[in-house]
Amino acid sequence: MAESKRDYYEVLGVPKDADEDALKKAYRKLAKKYHPDANPGDKEAEAKFKEASEAYSVLSDPQKRQQYDQFGHAAFEQGGAGAGGFGGGFGGFDFGGDMGDIFGDIFGDIFGGGRSGRARSGPSRGANIKTSVRITFEEAVFGCDKEIEINFKETCASCHGTGAKAGTSPQTCSKCNGKGKIMYTQQSFFGTVQNVQTCPDCNGTGQVIKEKCPDCYGTGYKTVRKKFKVSIPAGIDNGQCVRLAGGGEPGTGGGERGDLLVEAVVSQHPIFKRQDTSIYSTVPISFARAALGGPIRIKTVDGEVEYDVRPGTQTDTKVRLKGKGVPSLRSRSVRGDHYVTLVVQVPERMNQAQKEALRRFDDAMNGVASPEEEKPKKKGIFK
Ligand SMILES: [Zn+2]
Ligand SMILES: [Zn+2]
Repeated sequence: MAESKRDYYEVLGVPKDADEDALKKAYRKLAKKYHPDANPGDKEAEAKFKEASEAYSVLSDPQKRQQYDQFGHAAFEQGGAGAGGFGGGFGGFDFGGDMGDIFGDIFGDIFGGGRSGRARSGPSRGANIKTSVRITFEEAVFGCDKEIEINFKETCASCHGTGAKAGTSPQTCSKCNGKGKIMYTQQSFFGTVQNVQTCPDCNGTGQVIKEKCPDCYGTGYKTVRKKFKVSIPAGIDNGQCVRLAGGGEPGTGGGERGDLLVEAVVSQHPIFKRQDTSIYSTVPISFARAALGGPIRIKTVDGEVEYDVRPGTQTDTKVRLKGKGVPSLRSRSVRGDHYVTLVVQVPERMNQAQKEALRRFDDAMNGVASPEEEKPKKKGIFK
């Protein structure tokens, strides 16, 4: 989206410190005016509607709003050139999932829960929240406990989530008698039509709040920074999530909360590589140790282990250390293996005594006892 975008607060016509209620009110007004259903074929109205919807979808989400306040529109531009985060066409909006929850209650009362949004006619579950936590290679292998902090919509203590001022309680909606729906008749080309509409007074909940709770502006919750303990299971891999039930957005109409999904971002290890439950590493060994055999120390996630190199070991020999890999997520007692590649090192620098020793060795290999300082024979293993 190359054109310069208007400020979201300006789009909605609200001050920077507008609360959720004010945002909702402002957006509701604009949406009503510019909704494509109300302005068929009107491109300008459609553009205005999109602009307002985009602004509201960002500002009504505390996390996104914070990002926007900090970085402006840049916060939501996606990587690709010109591929704006919010689509060019009307279809660019995602009305499913989280967006559906954002717009559902607004369109629910404007359009009677029609095609544009979900009616709030029953309890609906809150959306999931996704976040991530960085852990080390070893923490992923053995599991760990981490603490994370997120923006969390906590049930308002003053009204216990009802949104009604302390001492009052939500009352049965008089317009719909608590049914959440009203019947109305409409004159159309086809005569008088009976229609069912979600009650506009109570949004279909069947209850109205006469006096809003001043602490949460009638929303029933407050956004706070909340810490969660996350128990990361042994064997978790990069990109896998831990689910904390009930750590998500609050539900509506008595619906349960969504979940908090914590994605593990595993740091690279300087020595170890991992694939599923296998660990891979490369270990250098000296030429003499490879030729003669003998014990070497190999680093594993359990610490160093001793390994007996077979005499005459060639470079790139693969060694399996059974059970030194990653525990299976499904069953902790099952562990993968650690595969080690032994790489024989050729010395790059040697002093005089070492060179002489090597020449003597080479001659011995060729069955020739030559004087010192003489060049090695052609057939020597070091040419
Ligand atoms: Zn409250
Ligand atoms: Zn009602």
